[in-house]
Amino acid sequence: MKLSVLGCSGGIGSGRHTTCLKVDDDVLIDAGTGITTLDFDQLLAIDHIFLTHAHLDHVLGLPLLLDSMGDMRESPLTVHALPEVLEVLSTHLFNWRLWPDFRMIPSAEAPWLRFSPLAFGDAFELGGRTFRALPVNHGVPACAFHLATAAGSLVFSGDTTRSEAFVAALNAIADLRHLIVDTSFENALAGVARASGHHWPDSLAEELRALRVRPEVWITHLKPGNEAAIMNDLHAVAPAWALKALQQGQLIEI
Ligand SMILES: [Zn+2]
Ligand SMILES: [Zn+2]
Repeated sequence: MKLSVLGCSGGIGSGRHTTCLKVDDDVLIDAGTGITTLDFDQLLAIDHIFLTHAHLDHVLGLPLLLDSMGDMRESPLTVHALPEVLEVLSTHLFNWRLWPDFRMIPSAEAPWLRFSPLAFGDAFELGGRTFRALPVNHGVPACAFHLATAAGSLVFSGDTTRSEAFVAALNAIADLRHLIVDTSFENALAGVARASGHHWPDSLAEELRALRVRPEVWITHLKPGNEAAIMNDLHAVAPAWALKALQQGQLIEI
């Protein structure tokens, strides 16, 4: 499995893109502005999108993707997410007011888009890769994704702050090789991080101390302009982990 980082910033500006990870050629995890780095053929090859939650920085590429590619697709694009997340998209995005409902276009029988609820505990198998939703804590319905292959596992937290349930889920993945985890703000902005449901260095360090698995840990969703401060704080509070910022354009292979 090849995971390509198309976008991993907590915002935009100076080449930064918001969250979008590509798994091999056919799957995206989240559809932030990173999706705009794909060319036409690459966009057309995407058949499945797994959404961690419905915040705009993670979904805004989805309606534009369908508008650009829908008529060229031979089968519907499938969006996998928690039922609560799909409900938000139905009510507030694909509602004929903010955007057309592509689950009815060109017809309800043969649409360009379909929703596939993925509840906690479900596992979705796709060509030797398994996708599972894990619990996180972000103040709105949200999940992490556990990608499992025969060669090992990767977990992407999506957006989260402290979550004992997430740590417990990680500790149950014996073959966890990579953990991509949110740390959006430096310690001086811990109040903002707490209020917005994101980690800050001290909170992440506390969770790392509770880990019984030893994955390579990549930091994501750093706020633009705050990257150096966040990483400096992380290196001070969790020196043993050699934490690295996830980079746009990076490839992680399992
Ligand atoms: Zn969010
Ligand atoms: Zn976000």
